[in-house]
Amino acid sequence: MPLKAPADFSELNEIMKTPRQTDSDASHEDRAKAIRDTLRDAIVDRRLSPGAKLSEAEVGSLYSVSRTIARSALQMLAFEGLVTSERNKGAFVSNPSPEEARQIFTSRRLIETGILQSAAENMSAEDFAAFREQLKKEALLKEDHGAKARREEIKVSGDFHLMLAEVAGNAILKKFMEELIGRSSLVIALYGKTGTSSCGSDDHFGILEALEAGNLDQATKMMLHHINHIEADLDLRPQSSLSLKDALQL
Ligand SMILES: [Zn+2]
Repeated sequence: MPLKAPADFSELNEIMKTPRQTDSDASHEDRAKAIRDTLRDAIVDRRLSPGAKLSEAEVGSLYSVSRTIARSALQMLAFEGLVTSERNKGAFVSNPSPEEARQIFTSRRLIETGILQSAAENMSAEDFAAFREQLKKEALLKEDHGAKARREEIKVSGDFHLMLAEVAGNAILKKFMEELIGRSSLVIALYGKTGTSSCGSDDHFGILEALEAGNLDQATKMMLHHINHIEADLDLRPQSSLSLKDALQL
């Protein structure tokens, strides 16, 4: 079977121009990550709408970086499911369907119960202390309102789930979780009914208490209840599009 050719020659040219492993590789990655983070915020906050085009050239010039760095940032977001790449068309903000949203939560129920089991075996006294600190931060953000606080709250509440994955000590599961949390945040921003993350610190606190009491069954039950609750708070009914006349209220 012939080797697969690169997507196009301009891509090949870029690769040829890229210097081999240099000291700047680390800063290249750092800059790509910083751009990824600001783009992710804009997507989850819906300042960039689903379907919006993200051109490498524009991202590069806005952040004064090379197209190669802009491309790395977009590829990281594509890996997280927040950006969709279409061949010959470029990158777009993902527009997850209601069905995809359901699949994300089905995946979370399967993976997070497994994570909980491994985490329960590994939790140290220091870990419990770190989780309690984290939940304090969440509770404080909950009292705050406004778009910025909401964005922070979605992010911080996702961190609770990522911390469990970290303690579980399986790097591959943790990567899965990073992707699932990123996708969940987008889906919550798109379909959330109440305008808050609904990934509440009360539920998190209950899960932590059950783990501390050594009651894995109870922690698992609460985790499933928690994920069901987040999903139930989404409005995933098929949206019937208004006629132009109705949309314009004529
Ligand atoms: Zn949660």
